[in-house]
Amino acid sequence: MKLQNQIYVFESGAHAGQSFEQVALTDYMLFDWLKTQEWYDKKFSKDKRERIDQIVKKLNNFIPAVKCQNSECEANAEYLTIARSYANIQKEDYSVYGIIGMSASTQFAWCKDHKNVPYEKAQPFEIKFNSLYHLEEVPKWVRRDALEVLLQCTGWNPKLKKTKENCKDFIDNLPQRGEQLGLNLY
Ligand SMILES: [Zn+2]
Repeated sequence: MKLQNQIYVFESGAHAGQSFEQVALTDYMLFDWLKTQEWYDKKFSKDKRERIDQIVKKLNNFIPAVKCQNSECEANAEYLTIARSYANIQKEDYSVYGIIGMSASTQFAWCKDHKNVPYEKAQPFEIKFNSLYHLEEVPKWVRRDALEVLLQCTGWNPKLKKTKENCKDFIDNLPQRGEQLGLNLY
């Protein structure tokens, strides 16, 4: 699939005026949801649909730019966990032990060997944007955090403005799993 040079922009809806890449990086679930809609083929031309497919593929096949957080491990992280903090919660005249907070962070990034060790209760999920669908049991704001953390895992520079050009360049150049193999063959 050849990369397209054109920047496509949404003409209507909540993200009117924003490019496909900008929306994919800031509101991924909505971006991916478009494809499930009845009107998708009518509303988006073949070129646009191809670009959407490229973006989705890139965001689900990138090599994470963070390391496993196990102190003795040097491997690239492949999984994240949502950290849960527990404490006694006062309920009228008794207290129970329960979850008081959840957070997503690159501090909870693990390789496949360490993904189950640190927090056995936390369900590890793969570092790719479609993993947001596996987080349906967590509150919405945690999912928003998780999207932000996934973006950090791509290696996005947080100081960079999310302009149309920056977002397109970044997605086009995201290192992909499997692409390096060819270079090492001799
Ligand atoms: Zn590790």
